[in-house]
Amino acid sequence: SLMRVFKFGGASVKSADAVKNVAKVLREYGDGPLVVVVSAMGKMTNKMEELADAYYYEKKTKTNILEEVKSFHQNIIQELKIDEYDYYEVENLLIELECMIEKKRDVSSPFDMEYDRIVPFGELISTKIISIYLNKIGYINRWIDARNFVITTEKNRAANVLWDECVPLINNSLKPLANKQTIITQGFIGRGLNHKNTTLGREGSDYTAAIFAFALDAESVTIWKDVSGVMNADPRKFEDATLIPLLSYNEAIELAYYGASVIHPKTIQPLKNKKIPLYVKSFVDPTLSGTEVRENDSRTLNETQCYIVKENQSVV
Ligand code: ADP
Ligand code: ASP
Ligand code: MG
Repeated sequence: SLMRVFKFGGASVKSADAVKNVAKVLREYGDGPLVVVVSAMGKMTNKMEELADAYYYEKKTKTNILEEVKSFHQNIIQELKIDEYDYYEVENLLIELECMIEKKRDVSSPFDMEYDRIVPFGELISTKIISIYLNKIGYINRWIDARNFVITTEKNRAANVLWDECVPLINNSLKPLANKQTIITQGFIGRGLNHKNTTLGREGSDYTAAIFAFALDAESVTIWKDVSGVMNADPRKFEDATLIPLLSYNEAIELAYYGASVIHPKTIQPLKNKKIPLYVKSFVDPTLSGTEVRENDSRTLNETQCYIVKENQSVV
């Protein structure tokens, strides 16, 4: 059976309306065996980072930040009209987070380890809400904890994947489930062999999608974005940025490496190794063809000027 992997980033699930749009995209494009990797909602990871900081440094702002996290998600749940009865699992996560934050911290635990205990709640809560909502509207799916499959080194905030651990786990335990039901899972988060949380680095959800795709020998990966695809410049900074319809793996690696923040740099290599095509498509207008990254002799980057703006330097 041909498995596909979709990835929805924070922008695609930043509000109740955005979540409804994801449901629409899934209904129209999500046929067949599918693993859906989702990020934290909107800018919630920034908020979770603030929370980790306030917790670690015992700042007075801690309680307020926690309240913001709670009300942000509770508002989305309300707007999605999820019954109280159905969202107790989200409530449980919020309670778990609250208990963690209210406890005095273990002074021997370094910041990065505390970060990896707290920040993954963004993804856990997001995927729970989305999974419950989708089931409610009849898009039947199963919520999976990515930490059981994305096994990593113990390096907090920049963990490396332990492929020999992940691949058999995903194949033996996740694949049979995915063949039966759409899987909803988290990007960005993993677990070390010591059973403690890890994270893959900011914007790491693209990488998670590639990890699952590699292990599942997926037919393709689709990253759904708020832009029409990979462009020759960030359209937020360059008004006349144009779409790049086709890229080779090496060109995509080159672009990501130089900092085109549209794809996480580690994402391409696993896909290249298995010749799995990557589609970057618009969740705003999914009828647009977007960008395809696959093995080909494309010399797009030789023919197109690409502009990547990095703080105080600009690589042309
Ligand atoms: P997500 O929430 O899906 O992770 P991001 O906000 O991280 O999405 O990334 C999407 C944004 O990347 C776009 O809105 C765009 O402004 C920016 N971007 C930067 N470089 C490029 C590029 N070369 N092509 C397209 N988008 C780009
Ligand atoms: N939520 C994480 C972040 O914002 C991971 C991701 O979205 O890719 O960095
Ligand atoms: Mg992102």
